[in-house]
Amino acid sequence: YKGANEIGEFCQEFDKMRVRLKDTILEQHEIEKRRKRLIASITHDLRTPLTSIQGYVEAIQDGIVKDQTTFDQYIETILTKTNQLNHLIDDLSVYTKQELGEFTLNLERINSGVLLNAYFNHKFMEFKYSPLNLVLNKPFISTFILVDPYRFNQILDNIIGNATKYAKSKIEIWTKVVDYHLQIQIKDDGDGIPQDVLDHIFDPFFMVNKVKDQKEKGGSGLGLAIVKQLTEGHSGKIEVTSEEGKGTCFTIDIPLDR
Ligand code: ADP
Repeated sequence: YKGANEIGEFCQEFDKMRVRLKDTILEQHEIEKRRKRLIASITHDLRTPLTSIQGYVEAIQDGIVKDQTTFDQYIETILTKTNQLNHLIDDLSVYTKQELGEFTLNLERINSGVLLNAYFNHKFMEFKYSPLNLVLNKPFISTFILVDPYRFNQILDNIIGNATKYAKSKIEIWTKVVDYHLQIQIKDDGDGIPQDVLDHIFDPFFMVNKVKDQKEKGGSGLGLAIVKQLTEGHSGKIEVTSEEGKGTCFTIDIPLDR
């Protein structure tokens, strides 16, 4: 009987190992598929503006452009596409460095009120000549958090940058403390994000309307993936809620430094 028990236990253990191995293989397949999709996206996003630049340069070289206005338009487009490429390469560099863990956070214990006042006072000036209204629901919560101020500003810049692109008339900022976490909410009154894609919004290269977002907003689809990496690097998280036709609200959630 003792022998039979041991065999039984061994079989159970073996079965568990088999299930774990199967899970690992499936996980590896998933990672590999994701990697391939990423490479395909990067290749596509690099090639598109390059092909267009090549087309315009060849047209100029072939003497197709006869008048100064068209020539200026072509040069303007080449410059826009070059900027788009530069932006994409910058984002890619930040994103991959973070994926590889090759970035350091210089964490400091900082008063959130001081940090947010400095950031938003500066932003407020930028909005002075914008048709959009930046509504700051002050006073901002004054508590201590452990952050890298440079990276923290990068998180805010990305979210505010998006809100600026999509808002119709205003962007509102709130702060609150929930369960020993500081929450910063950035709400816009844009068209919102469809519910069925909301789960993918932080995926690298994801854009709701790729052609339009790339062309009109100059996006790379990496901004929110970078924001997610950065907030998680601060032991925090980023959440989004959205209502179509009404707007989108991003919540940056960072633990307090107690
Ligand atoms: P990018 O770096 O190109 O700005 P993001 O990763 O920041 O890309 O955003 C991905 C996509 O999410 C955008 O292309 C856009 O479709 C959508 N999005 C992000 N923020 C908003 C917002 N505030 N309102 C509506 N759509 C948004």
